Parts: sequence; C-alpha cells; structure tokens
Amino acid sequence: MGNNQNIMDTPIEYVKGIGPVKGDIFRKELNIHTLQDLLFTFPFRYIDRTTFHQIKDIKAEGDNIQLKGTLISIEKIKSKSNRSRLQGMFKDSTGFLELVWFQGATWLDKTLKVGEEYIIYGRVTIFSGKKTMAHPEMELISEAAVSISKTFDPVYRSTEKMDGKGIDSKNRRKIMKLLLQSITPEDIPESLPPFILEKLRICSGFDAIQWIHFPQTDSQRELATNRIKFEEFFYVQIRLLQSKIYRKHKYRSAAFTTIGSLFNTFYSTLLEFELTNAQKKVIKEIRSDLGNTTQMNRLLQGDVGSGKTIVALLSMLIAIDNGFQSCIMAPTEILAQQHYTSITTALGDLPVQVAFLSGSIKGKKREIILAGLKSGEIKIIIGTHALIEHQVEFQHLGLAIVDEQHRFGVAQRASLWKKNDQLAPHVLVMTATPIPRTLAMTLYGDLDVSVIDELPPGRKEIQTIHKFESARPQLIQFMHKEIAKGRQIYIVYPLIEESEKMDLQNLQDGYEKLLQYFPMPDYQISVVHGRMKSKDKDWEMQRFISKTTQIMVATTVIEVGVNVPNASVMIIENTERFGLSQLHQLRGRVGRGADQSYCILMTDYKISKEGKERIATMVRTNNGFEIAEADLKLRGPGDIQGTQQSGLLDFKLLNISADKQIMDAARHYAIQIIEDDPRLERDVHQNISIQVAKLRIKNKDWARVS
Ligand code: ADP
Ligand code: MG
Repeated sequence: MGNNQNIMDTPIEYVKGIGPVKGDIFRKELNIHTLQDLLFTFPFRYIDRTTFHQIKDIKAEGDNIQLKGTLISIEKIKSKSNRSRLQGMFKDSTGFLELVWFQGATWLDKTLKVGEEYIIYGRVTIFSGKKTMAHPEMELISEAAVSISKTFDPVYRSTEKMDGKGIDSKNRRKIMKLLLQSITPEDIPESLPPFILEKLRICSGFDAIQWIHFPQTDSQRELATNRIKFEEFFYVQIRLLQSKIYRKHKYRSAAFTTIGSLFNTFYSTLLEFELTNAQKKVIKEIRSDLGNTTQMNRLLQGDVGSGKTIVALLSMLIAIDNGFQSCIMAPTEILAQQHYTSITTALGDLPVQVAFLSGSIKGKKREIILAGLKSGEIKIIIGTHALIEHQVEFQHLGLAIVDEQHRFGVAQRASLWKKNDQLAPHVLVMTATPIPRTLAMTLYGDLDVSVIDELPPGRKEIQTIHKFESARPQLIQFMHKEIAKGRQIYIVYPLIEESEKMDLQNLQDGYEKLLQYFPMPDYQISVVHGRMKSKDKDWEMQRFISKTTQIMVATTVIEVGVNVPNASVMIIENTERFGLSQLHQLRGRVGRGADQSYCILMTDYKISKEGKERIATMVRTNNGFEIAEADLKLRGPGDIQGTQQSGLLDFKLLNISADKQIMDAARHYAIQIIEDDPRLERDVHQNISIQVAKLRIKNKDWARVS
C-alpha cells in the first residue's frame, strides 16, 4: 500500500498539467489538495458526444443535446435597458434553430464565424413552436476534429476565477485524461470483497474511477455511478454498525426483569383504552430489550397521533418498577411541557413523582429538582436539553427517552448515556413525525427500529381541502356552521424570523377581520404567538381548552403537542409558506376526537411549482410516512432541519430519495460483513477497514458517538 498511498497523496500542483499557479486555484476554489481529491471530484454532468441529433426530431424540451450544422447568421441586439444580447441562426440538413446568448455578446460576436460548420451543444427550449438554444457550447468542426471522441465528455463544477485562469472545461478534461492514463489498478486497490462484486455485478473500483470521468457508453456511466453510490453508503453503514456493536460491548445496562405493580396497576386500571396491535408489538420489543443487560438503542417511529406517548410511559414504568429513574428529553420547551402534562394526567393518582426541568426553571425550584433526582425521589423527569447539563445527576437513570422533533445532535444524544458511571441507561429515541426509511437508515443506522404503523381505531380521516382567497366568504360560513355544532377552530399563520414584523401584522389583521364576522360577546377568540410571554400564552391556551373561546388564532407554536380533541377545523393561512412535515404536524392537531375533522389550506393564487406539489401531497394523503417521502424528494436531505451538520448525509452521488435499492443492498451486505467479522480483521476486509477509517477522520464529530 505504501507506494500507492504516496501517489494518491501527491500535492495537487505536482499533478501533470497543473503547476503551482493552477494548483493554488484548485486548493482555494475547490478545496482540492491532492491527486486523490482531484480523482474523486466527479463530473456533475456529461456532454453526450456519442450521438448527433437532428433539428427536425426535437419535439419537446429535454436534456442537453449535440447538433452538427452551420452557423448562418449572427446579430447583436441592443435591448432597452442597454444590455445587448447576441442572436444567431443555425441550420442542419433538417431544419433551423435559433441561438441566443445574453452574456458575453461582444466577445462572441468577434469570435464566432458565420458560414462555418459547428458542433453545438445545449438545451433546446420551445416557445410557441419556435426552437431556441440559449448559451450553446460552440466548437468549430475544423478544430474539434481531434477532440470529437464519441464518448461522454465530463463537465466539472467550476468557478469564475477558474475560468479566468484558463482552467475551463476543456483544460480540466485534458488534465483528467492525463491523470487517468497515469493511474494503474494498483493505485486503486479493490476494496469490496469479490463476492459482493459478483453478486451485485458491479464494476471494480478502478473501472469505476475511469468510467465516472470518461464513460464510453451509457452503461459504463451507470455501472460507475452505481458502484460509487454503493460504496458511499456501504462504508457509512459499516461504520454505524460497528459503533452499534462497539457500544453493545462497552456499555452494560441494568436488566429490568420484573414487570411490577406500577406497570400492572397502570395497565389494568388507568389505561383508558385498548392498545392497538402496533403499540402492543412495539412494547413487546422494548420489554425484550429492557430485559437484559445489553443497552437498548431503539428508534420508535409512528405517525402523528399513533400513540407514542403511552408507549413511552409504559416503558418508563418498567424502569421504575425495577428501581430505576427515567427521563424524557424534548427539543423545545413547549413539547417538553406537553409531555409533562400528558404523562402526569395519564398517571393520575399513581404514586410516581414526576418533575419538569428546562432552562427557565431557576433558583430554589431548580435546586429542589436537582436534589430530588440525586436522591432518587423523582422517578420521571421531563425536560429540554437542560437535562444533559452536568449539574443534573441521577441516583439511577435506567431509561432515557429522547423525543426528537428534528433530531438532536448525535453527540447530544450520547451525552445522556454518560449520566451513569457504571451502567448506561437504555435509550429510546422517538420521532415526532415519521422519517423516510432511507433517511432513518442513514441517521439512525446504529439503532434498532420499532414502527407504530397503525392509528387508534375510530379516527375519522381528516378531510383536507385547498382553497383560494375567493372562497373566503364560504369559509366564514363554514366556520359559523361548525361553531354552531359546538366545535372549535384553529387558524394558523406563518411566522418566520426574517419577516417576523410583517408576519405578526398579518396575524393581527386576520384577527381583526375575524372579529367582524365573529363579534363578542357571542364569540371569543384566542390569540397565541411565540412573542407572547409564556404566562399569557398559557392563559390563552387554557381558555381554548376550556372551550371559553371557539377560535384560536396562532402561529406554529401550536405545531407540536397541543391536544384539544374538540377542535375539528384547522385552517392554515399562506399554506405555501409552510414545509410539508410542518403542515402534517399542524393537521395532526385536529382529528383527535370523534367528530369529522377538516384541514383547509388557504393560499394565494400564485404558488411555486414546489408549493403546489406540497399542497397536492397534503390533499392526497394523510399518511405521515408518505408525506415524509414526498418531503425528502422535494427538498433533498440537506434541507431537512438539523441534518446538515451531521455529516452523515454528505454524499457526492448518492441520492437518498432515489437510490433506495442501492442503499438496501449496501445495508444488507454491511450487516453480513459485520456479523461475520465485526472488527474487520480478515484479509479480504482490510481495504474496507481503511475506507472506514478515512470516514472517521473526515467526520470527527460523528466519531464521538462511540
Ligand atoms: P403521538 O404518537 O403523536 O405522540 P399521542 O401519544 O399524543 O400520539 O396520542 C394521540 C392521542 O391518541 C392521545 O389522545 C392518546 O391518548 C390517544 N391514544 C393513544 N393510544 C390509543 C389507543 N390505543 N386507543 C385510543 N386512543 C389512543
Ligand atoms: Mg406526541
């Protein structure tokens, strides 16, 4: 390996065709420092040089295509704003195509030659029958003769500075060609065991690198892409599975072997309903985990309203029956408070001391709680990340439940385990809304998974309807009708920090308009938003819960946790401004009672394509898992809150919404290998071990998990 390693580590300026000046630019502009970095910086698209299209065959707008023909005219056109564009006419033996450039008109006007034959490349748009190609790449046939390769030419990400220093696409291709010619299979030793290559029919690592840069056919390109995607996910999975095993060896937890009086009393006398089969199944899984000294690390997924809270409570009672304490950590104060309320309500008179802790609990109150935790008097503590501060000490923490609305940092999760010196608490991670399977595999690949895939019986499907402003009068009528039936209504306004002032004004205006249609004293309206004092918020909430008010005008502060079963209408204003999972959470505030519930999505007439897609998804389905999939597809994982920093989603080629099959295969083989050789000690696994070690260096924060 020694020698190969040296070649790969070659500083970028020593790579043939680069030199100190360009090397500096590669470093500064693209963060490419070594030969290896360059080799593993893949093209983001290709120019298809394998076929020439004919103008007459272009029927619809589509991908970039290549054409061969003559530039027959060129004309510089000055627009009113004094910005000039260049317009050209191009023809092949089958038709005409307009070319247009909005930038660089002067320069192009000088260099392009009318009457000459060109190979052009770009994307055709069609507007009322007229075909146009904007900013085509132009290459004189006379000059292109050498470079016409009948392959796919790679196109790499570039910056303005690079283009200015002569590192344009052509130059980059030349450098890559030379580099790839100088690399031998020994430089890129195969890291996957032969049986995987055979079973999956994927190409070797060496071929993949050659083909990802210069594929000669579509199939080479696909083979290379799939191989690289597989590896990207495979090593991450190996790493996650290793840390899972490592933890199992390193941490011991207490075995909760008895199902005692608290659990039994609660189950037989206080539980007001029959558990769903899904809840029973999940509790069984948890009980089995808690029953032995291997630390539980389980993810509990379930849709909004599927009844995760009761599962959490029953698990905590098992811990308490066995002489241990439990905690629930929630990402926001409101959510923590909500858990506190539901848990204390559910427990009724059962002799279990429950406490609440957040940053806002200070002084004497805080001291009493801290003392109660240390003495073991407090059995359940519910709070925010204030729970992981080092002053918080338990007598015996046996079970830590982490409710992740949008994921705590993995490191934060881990720090809860360190609350106990000898025995680590069992850990149950709950998600507030479902997350797609592939995302769960990535972010929680080191956990076991339980899913509640069934809602409690008797729930009526919420009817979701999209309306424009013109339907406002009918909406008001509808609200009157529902209120007359004794129902209550939420109206939610968007509020984001960047436009907070305007958003609050909108809410205020909406509220005042509402007062005209629902005048006091016949009607009462609550208003709740994040800028209010928490005392005032509570008071308004309380008025709504006690049915003193019929309408609650609010921002997304009610997104999570609020449970008012009599509320059956959720009206969302400016729906286009909300994200999908947020909308699903909001909709989950209704449909909690026996009545038919409605979710009405109000929007402006003008909505972006993505906004339309989100609304269509909401109207189409109530299923949180489906919505999560759609959300991932629309936004991509990078946008999903809290995941950016994790580094776990740092893939170059893999798309976790589209590449499910590859991910499943990678996980499958990762499990197989780790079960067979957990420390990767066998010879055939040496190169996997090296790749995984590289991952560890790349992401130190992530490594802190274990
Ligand atoms: P989530 O999974 O969204 O946290 P909750 O735990 O808040 O859901 O449960 C939603 C509602 O359903 C609560 O009012 C809860 O009491 C009720 N619930 C939970 N399980 C059942 C069940 N098996 N049968 C009937 N109602 C249930
Ligand atoms: Mg909940």
